[in-house]
Amino acid sequence: MASQSQPQETKTLPIKILFDKQTNKVVAVEATNDFVDTLFSFLSLPLGTITRLVAATTTTTATSSSDGNNDQQPPEPPFLNSINNLYQSVQNLSPNDVWNPVCKQMLLRPRNPCEALCSKLVLNVDDTEPATKVYVCASCDKFTTFPNLVCTCGKPVREPKNLDSEGSVEVKGGVFVKGTESSFLVFDDLKIVPSSFVSFMPLLVQMGYSDLTQLEEITQNIGMQEILKILMYTLTSREPLTNAILGSDSKKKDNPQNLFASAVRARANIGDSKMDVKVVRSKSQNKIIFAEANADFVDFIFSLLTIPLGSIVKLLGGEWSIFCWMC
Ligand SMILES: [Zn+2]
Repeated sequence: MASQSQPQETKTLPIKILFDKQTNKVVAVEATNDFVDTLFSFLSLPLGTITRLVAATTTTTATSSSDGNNDQQPPEPPFLNSINNLYQSVQNLSPNDVWNPVCKQMLLRPRNPCEALCSKLVLNVDDTEPATKVYVCASCDKFTTFPNLVCTCGKPVREPKNLDSEGSVEVKGGVFVKGTESSFLVFDDLKIVPSSFVSFMPLLVQMGYSDLTQLEEITQNIGMQEILKILMYTLTSREPLTNAILGSDSKKKDNPQNLFASAVRARANIGDSKMDVKVVRSKSQNKIIFAEANADFVDFIFSLLTIPLGSIVKLLGGEWSIFCWMC
């Protein structure tokens, strides 16, 4: 296991990759609980954090490609493009557009609900500064982890209370999963099961691999760059491991979009609450050019950046196929 004091950029985790020699695709990866814990932590990342991390990964990969590296350029599917526009719109807000600078910080660097646990991960993709203090209103006991705020009741926040004793989390043997010696199988579509030969063989046969000579195993160390690519392809591909790990070596050029990406585009107007929005629509193209809306609607759209990925998946759960417009 890598040391906690070692910088995140230099830490790596060993994984065994089982890949199909003919299609050059990852069939499954055998990894320890440290790798699986990092994958599970993706669910705790707010959308604003994911947008920031993916944008940085795309820039890094594009730079290395122009330097002669053959890495495949990550795709820019419509879903990420729109969220990126939303993120940049918040970045471009002037001080006159928001109540205070903290409003922008809350959206651009939203708090991870599991930040104390994630800080214990060997590879933690969330680089948001963790909260160390909580600020309580002197009048109504509302609290915030952001400093220099005036409460909605008009009173200033009290002296900060240190979070050290309550915020620290004791972790023994795994962050989300139990046991340091645990081993897991992670399939290309990120289905994860405890590693066992008994359960693995039927799954391989089910996937059409009755002849194991088609498969080859290699061992590779996974670092932060690979983990960030897995995060990005988790949102944009049905084959995130093949794209992120085999990358430039993969013979497979297409990058099928997953149902998650499709569902987010299609469910924008569903909900019990109604907000009045004036839209300008192109008759010839039959699409909305722009919408004119009040602050409630804009607040709602901006607040999407603070929702953790796991909550989004839960909100969309079970209805993905209904709203899938590409498959
Ligand atoms: Zn108050």
